[in-house]
Amino acid sequence: MALPQLNTVKYDMVIPSTGQQIKYRPFVVREEKVLLTSLESGDAQQITNAMRDIVEVCTFKEVSVKSLAMFDLEYIFLKLRSKSVGENAEIGIKCSNEECGHMNPVTINLDAVELQGDPMAKATVALTDEVGVTLNYPTVQRLEDVMKGSTTENQIDLVIGMIAASIESIYDASSVYPAVDSTPQELIDFIDSLNKEQFSKLQDFFNNFPKLKEEINFTCEKCGTENNQVLEGLNDFFG
Ligand SMILES: [Zn+2]
Repeated sequence: MALPQLNTVKYDMVIPSTGQQIKYRPFVVREEKVLLTSLESGDAQQITNAMRDIVEVCTFKEVSVKSLAMFDLEYIFLKLRSKSVGENAEIGIKCSNEECGHMNPVTINLDAVELQGDPMAKATVALTDEVGVTLNYPTVQRLEDVMKGSTTENQIDLVIGMIAASIESIYDASSVYPAVDSTPQELIDFIDSLNKEQFSKLQDFFNNFPKLKEEINFTCEKCGTENNQVLEGLNDFFG
């Protein structure tokens, strides 16, 4: 017997990096289950895949998720989640008083969390008189392609991989070399060959990647310390 269909509520949102206006719906139990399973696995790739699938179906496949920037995906996902499980999320935050370290339940309004930074920024960085690079925030797909072959055992490899994925093109006095024509390893070798000063110019761009950010103030329920902490990145808003 065919059961009744439920009406879907739709909301509007603007994609930060493109300004495109999209419609979305909250996720349903089926999708929540996939998400929880991926979170339990603790595997970053599996969590990203679950987020990607959920964002795709909940935006009625109007959005090409692979061409979004990673921070777009995080932002859309947070907004989806706030409409799906309630805009007030309770998360556990550790008291900053080292002798205490008590985990405090803190309520955050997910709807009010915004992306900090300029999501449409691009940069052209001169490395020498003749050689330089053009940087742009990498898409989910680009990041995946570039990071696939790289070792991400330590923080510096992760940063180099992210910067390699951000390179749109490299130029010298005679030509422009689009990054997509190079292998990820060639881009990483290029970054490895930079001196410290040149590298820090590229790192500046990475440091300014837009992030979900929210300042949280609360009084520790155990020791009374006034806490002033910053939540940063999607992980901090799960709890
Ligand atoms: Zn405390």
